[in-house]
Formats: sequence, structure tokens, C-alpha cells
Amino acid sequence: MSTSKVKLSLVVPCYNEQDNVELFLAACKKAFDGKVDNYEIIFINDGSKDNTWRKLKKLYEKEDNLKLVNFSRNFGKEAAMYAGLQKAVGDYVTIIDADLQQRPELVVEMVDFLDNNDDFDCVAAFQQDRREGKVLSFFKKAFYKFINSVCEIDFRSGASDFRTFRHNMVESILEMKEYFRFSKGIFSWVGYNVHYMPYIAEERNAGKTSWSFRKLFKYAMEGILAFTTFPLKLATYAGGICSFLSLLYMVVVIIQKLAFGIDIPGYPTLIVLILFIGGIQMILLGIIGLYISKMYIEGKRRPIYIAKEYLDSAERKDD
Ligand code: UDP
Ligand code: MG
Repeated sequence: MSTSKVKLSLVVPCYNEQDNVELFLAACKKAFDGKVDNYEIIFINDGSKDNTWRKLKKLYEKEDNLKLVNFSRNFGKEAAMYAGLQKAVGDYVTIIDADLQQRPELVVEMVDFLDNNDDFDCVAAFQQDRREGKVLSFFKKAFYKFINSVCEIDFRSGASDFRTFRHNMVESILEMKEYFRFSKGIFSWVGYNVHYMPYIAEERNAGKTSWSFRKLFKYAMEGILAFTTFPLKLATYAGGICSFLSLLYMVVVIIQKLAFGIDIPGYPTLIVLILFIGGIQMILLGIIGLYISKMYIEGKRRPIYIAKEYLDSAERKDD
């Protein structure tokens, strides 16, 4: 690659994308031709189990604007994005999926927008209407409602990782070195002026999505644990409410006994109360446990990813 300034870096996490990477590169060439002159593409092979890495190396032989990072195992898209952002040198940096659900033509629009709007630092694509089931959509809405109400930063429903940043914003993101990465939170935590651009995601070109309901649920939990400590306060609230109710109940019992001489059926009341309070205590202990387990892992300060190979066509020896 020439030494002149790189205008745009594309960060492309790849997990089992053997049938997409070639097409993705071709689509980029077509979209950027004559519009974005100097760009680089950073592919991160996130421990794919198929031929993605071999395919990427083949592309690398032919192209002069590629960087390839090969992870030692699957570390997840968050880690892949982090690695890609670290390698990106462009004035603008875009995170985009390899499966062509997000068209490179939109990146040109994002770049144009940033070129013409100095006061914005980031363009984020968001899906206005999603083609997804009612149940999933309900849970997603509930998640955003909850996290927005308990968290000081703003989470926008439907916003994706498909974004273009100015380089200074990327540097701020890289300063957040936490192991449990929840990029939606990280992107809003760093602040800056973000412009939201509606887009419609295409169907996946080949392969299948790696998101199951279970994984999404886990991801949502990660987000809550990483960006709000509200659940930890629940114990205090529950404790307060229980104490208040038990006080009320005590007054009721005293009045019943003294004024009306009613016998209180002790055994069932006791069992119900013990189970109820015990249950609440267990749940709250569990929540505390969740936070402690995150702290435990975070405290080990493990690397976010391990790359066993890094190839940069600018540093190719045979040039
Ligand atoms: N991806 C990744 N590591 C993973 C899972 C996914 O790098 O462990 C990449 C994947 O190759 C794709 C992007 O992240 O480029 C989005 O994944 P996917 O298409 O499965 O998600 P969806 O588009 O359904 O949200
Ligand atoms: Mg996809």
C-alpha cells in the first residue's frame, strides 16, 4: 500500500465466513471505486472453523490494502472489533460485518456525511424496522427500556455495531480496556456527537447467524452487568419493603389478638414467609455473585484476545 494517508479503515470481524469474504471484498471495490480513494480492509479471523483463514490469505496475496489478524481461537465479535480498531490507521474507521447484510455503499454515505459535517464524530446505522419475531422484538424492547431507565448513558434501540468513527473517537474506545466488552455501551459511554442513520439490513449472503436466543439473552445480561450496578441496589430496596411489610403485619397481628382474640394460624404463615424471604435472599445473593464473578475475571487482567498471526500488505517482504 502506498504511504499516503489512509482515508478509511474497514474493520471486518469474520467467524465462519468462507463463502462471504471474497464477495465482500468485491462489493467494497465496487462501492468505493472513484469515491473513497485510499482505504484499507482489516479482516479479523475470529477462530473460524471453516476455510475463512485460507481464503483470506489468498486474497492477501493479490491485494495491497489488506491487514489480516488471526486469532488463536474464537474470542467473540467484541474482541475482534477491538483488535481491528487497534490496527486501523484511517482518518475514518468503519465496523462492518462480513456477511453483506450491511452494504459497503452505505459506508460511502457515512464517509460523505462526516466529510460534510465537522461537528459529528460518528455515524451509526440503525435498523428502523427489523424483520424478526414478535417475541424477540418484545424482549429487545424490554431490555432497552430497563437499561435506559437504570443507566446514565443512552442506549438506542436498533442501533448496530455498523458505524463509522473519526479516528479520535476510536482512540477513546481503545482506552476502554475492559475484558467484558459490551460495545453498545462503550460507544455511548465515550460520548462524542453521533448521527443515527436509518438502514435496512439485507439477508445474510451465505452461512448462518451465530446469534441464538440464548446467546442474545447472555449478551443482554453482559450489558446490564457491565453498565449498571442497579441490580446490586435491589437488596436494599427489597430489605426495606420487607421490613416495612413485616412491621405492618405485626401491628395487624397484635390488633387481631388483643382486640378480637383471633388465633393466628402460625405454621402456614411461617412456611410461606420463610420461603418468600428465603427466595428473595437467594436471588439477591445470586445477583451479587454475578457481579463478583465478573470482578474475579476482570481482576485477572487477561488479554482481550490472542492473535497468533498478523499480516499487513504494506509490510510485505516480497514487495
Ligand atoms: N462474528 C465474529 N465472531 C463471533 C461471531 C460473529 O467475528 O464469534 C462476526 C461474523 O463473522 C459477522 C459479524 O460478526 O461478520 C456479525 O455476526 P452475525 O452475522 O452472526 O450476526 P447478525 O448479523 O446476525 O447480528
Ligand atoms: Mg450478520
